[in-house]
Amino acid sequence: MTDHALNQLCQEVFSDIFPEKQVKIEASFYPSRSLKHSVKFQNGKVKIRIAETLRSAPEIIIKTLCTILFLKLFRFKIDRRLYQHYREYLEKNAHLLQPVKKRPPSPRYSSVGIYFNLEKIFERLNHAFFENRLQKPVLGWSLKKSYRRLGFYSGEKNLLVISRIFDSKKVPESVVEYLMYHEMLHIDLPAVKVNHRRRIHGAEFKIRERLYPHYDEVQKWLKKNLKRL
Ligand SMILES: [Zn+2]
Repeated sequence: MTDHALNQLCQEVFSDIFPEKQVKIEASFYPSRSLKHSVKFQNGKVKIRIAETLRSAPEIIIKTLCTILFLKLFRFKIDRRLYQHYREYLEKNAHLLQPVKKRPPSPRYSSVGIYFNLEKIFERLNHAFFENRLQKPVLGWSLKKSYRRLGFYSGEKNLLVISRIFDSKKVPESVVEYLMYHEMLHIDLPAVKVNHRRRIHGAEFKIRERLYPHYDEVQKWLKKNLKRL
């Protein structure tokens, strides 16, 4: 599992337990041969570190562990069975838990979905709204289904990802287009610093976002249908 996948997994586990809490999660593996993990709440973020030993463990182990750590952090009572499950999984998978020396190569994203091709959508929007100014980053459908992070753009990784829940015949093309348009605005409008904080959806961003022709329609559609995807 990559750090990126761990982050996504933690975010999903967290919002399953605390759907009302809006907290950013920073998750990473850290080099350790032991099975010590840590979680803390710092500067408005939950920082979680999982021992490198578990990088190759099945997802269910990490999921269970994260659940335990999150509950612990907010001082919730933890069902004994959860610990039991965690230990049982570990015992069963002991052979997988060798310390990993090299990180696996980062997973390859694919831009060609079953229903939508992100390359084509990017090119169309770049032409229609950005005068073909934007350099195309690596485009991809997310590796896992995400209902929380509908899309993201990382300038550092030169990567633009759209949640794979939208690669579906239930989804109008204007919705995928809007999500892509939003992320493309991030390429065009770098974050501005306001009072020492990075503001990524500033005033100009919001104005330009509303220029997307089907903006209201798409927002309504998302409100109504996101949970059903
Ligand atoms: Zn955004």
